[in-house]
Amino acid sequence: MAVKQLASCIFCKIIKGEIPSYKLIETEFSFSFLDIGPLSKGHALIIPKYHAEKLHELPDEHLTDVLPIAKKIAAAQGVPDYNILQNNGRIAHQEVPHVHFHVIPKPSTSDDEGLVIGWPVKKFEKDEMEKIYDAIKQKL
Ligand code: 5GP
Ligand code: ZN
Repeated sequence: MAVKQLASCIFCKIIKGEIPSYKLIETEFSFSFLDIGPLSKGHALIIPKYHAEKLHELPDEHLTDVLPIAKKIAAAQGVPDYNILQNNGRIAHQEVPHVHFHVIPKPSTSDDEGLVIGWPVKKFEKDEMEKIYDAIKQKL
């Protein structure tokens, strides 16, 4: 198993048990636990055991282990509505530079519990949309 850890990283320390956590599910590739600053009851984090700062830096076997865990946790949280959130980079609201997925229950009883997001839609003309599409497509 390729596990890469960083001694100074708080999430690597949680995986090693050097910082305590409310552990949920642990697998060969992943570790999950309750978020210390929850947006709602049961807000959980899933982290790969491989230290990478951003999602695209993770080996696929670590990445593919995460969603089945998210599914189990979401079902166990007991709230029908929820968000899966994964931030990459400081200006994209990533505070801890070790890849993590949030599973955030969205209770129907309160608007300000759970994730609250802005969604500022931009309008691109057809030719610009095509340029954007071509630029991405040729790198895939
Ligand atoms: P981000 O903004 O990077 O996507 O989210 C980082 C999350 O990690 C935050 O929701 C924060 O509450 C949580 N967090 C930071 N440090 C700790 C910790 O030591 N223990 C736990 N359980 N959660 C943490
Ligand atoms: Zn780490």
